[in-house]
Amino acid sequence: MKINKIIIAFLLGGILTGYTQNNDQPKLILQITVDQLRGDLPDKFMTHMGEGGFRYLKENGIWFHNAHYGHANTETVVGHTTLATGADPAVHGMISNVWFDRETGKLNYNIEDPRYHILSDGSDVDEDTELDSSQILASTDGRSPANILVTTFSDELRMTTFGKAKIFGVSVKDRGAVTLAGHTGKAFWFSKVSNEFITSSYYYDKNPKWVDKWNNAKKAAKYGDKSWELLVDTSKYEFANHDDQPWEMDIAGFGTTFPHKYGPSDGKYLGNFLIYSPAGDELTLDFAKSLIIAEEIGQDDITDFLAISFSSTDYVGHLFGPSSLEAEDNMLRLDRTLADLFSYIDKHVGLENTLIVLSADHGGPEAPGYLKSMGINSGYVSPNKWDKEPAIERLKKQFGIGQELILDFFPPYVYLNHDVINEKGLDLKDVQNVISRELMKIEGVSLAISSESLRSNNMPDTYLYRKALKNFNYKRSGDILILLSPQYFFNDFDGEIVAANHGSPWMYDSYVPVIFAGWKLKGKEVNRRIEPKDIAITLANLLGTKPPSGADGEVLLEVIDYK
Ligand SMILES: [Zn+2]
Repeated sequence: MKINKIIIAFLLGGILTGYTQNNDQPKLILQITVDQLRGDLPDKFMTHMGEGGFRYLKENGIWFHNAHYGHANTETVVGHTTLATGADPAVHGMISNVWFDRETGKLNYNIEDPRYHILSDGSDVDEDTELDSSQILASTDGRSPANILVTTFSDELRMTTFGKAKIFGVSVKDRGAVTLAGHTGKAFWFSKVSNEFITSSYYYDKNPKWVDKWNNAKKAAKYGDKSWELLVDTSKYEFANHDDQPWEMDIAGFGTTFPHKYGPSDGKYLGNFLIYSPAGDELTLDFAKSLIIAEEIGQDDITDFLAISFSSTDYVGHLFGPSSLEAEDNMLRLDRTLADLFSYIDKHVGLENTLIVLSADHGGPEAPGYLKSMGINSGYVSPNKWDKEPAIERLKKQFGIGQELILDFFPPYVYLNHDVINEKGLDLKDVQNVISRELMKIEGVSLAISSESLRSNNMPDTYLYRKALKNFNYKRSGDILILLSPQYFFNDFDGEIVAANHGSPWMYDSYVPVIFAGWKLKGKEVNRRIEPKDIAITLANLLGTKPPSGADGEVLLEVIDYK
């Protein structure tokens, strides 16, 4: 009898413990990515920010002030996938926004998948109006996460909950949404052509009704004939007297000074102009709000996952640089967008039930023009004609090669013509090495690393080589990795020179904020060095899922020790 009582007590204890654990988990994981938000920017512009946005995170969040990506190529799909999977690009496979596919002989856009077409008519990339230098290289409208080689945290959450957790990714950029939604979630992104949020047949047979309803409301068109104007009084801005800086990109119709006109509601460039301004983030938030209600996010005891990637900071950074009146106003408006999001979540899910994680896919440099105005050396490297460089022409002559030897270049990789190298009976390693040596003589090139030296681990253990290795995927990385000197940039934005271009291994591009907030967490500032890839494994640990399949970050104990 006594033993039975113990057994019953034990069983009850077990049931109660199980119940308590369920209640002990957040109802929602809200993973926010701000594209190109360098780690210092929120604090730098905090003075004129309001309540409830960054200030809420500052006062209530665990803020990691020394988070740096470990990989060499700090680009959008690379960073987003690292955030999603907790893996380095060498392992998750998204080594660049674009890589050369040796089977098709073409440059391949990261999440392109011809099997899964977008579901909305008239929403494919328009080559005439598209200014995104990587997206324009997609040759079909198909999109899926199939190229991501490992599982995401969101995949693991889905499996741990027997397929019950609702998983969503939303962004202006397709690659910002698809990566975080993982293989098991649903992703929506913005078409700059139809000005609608769209998805592909990987996710649905047809749009959910609420998506059609949102699109039919034509919310983007409501910005027609309006302008991006300053949020607060001009006197409040540090850059008030520097609106027109010579290095800012002057896009016809949008211009380099306030107010930036969106043009007519049926204008060809409306979608582009909206995402070049804080309006892109406002639309993303508006769509996410509809999603939260329609999909009943965070309404039961199964933890849901919603990823929102805000893209405007990236476009504004590229066009005007992070030290510009536009970037300053964008920060204030991003702060308002975040405050709006947090208050909406508080109302519908409760911030005490929501674990918020905010980070960025990469940082961003200052514009070369701005650096020069401060007396800091800076410059551009043009990779377009490397095959015709006199030194490369001499090498080709020496090898008896009468055609292209450098087949293609997309940052950060050079792709060589393997067919001609094989035909001539040349050793690939030797060719890579001699070309690397020649390319390293170009002003602004800091290091050219051949893939054969990475493959054979024949290299010094230095900062740049370690970053190169984390970016090196045997099957996808190119023949030679080009790393530019600090403050040097490729002028590759569709042949045009943008104000600022990220992608380097240097601190300004690797530095991002990592902030955990909401739920039961208490505010704390953390200054030790971490990597953004630590986020996924920390979430897995906290939620009791198994780690994503390639995750090798470290669990952030400051977050786990909330109890
Ligand atoms: Zn980005």
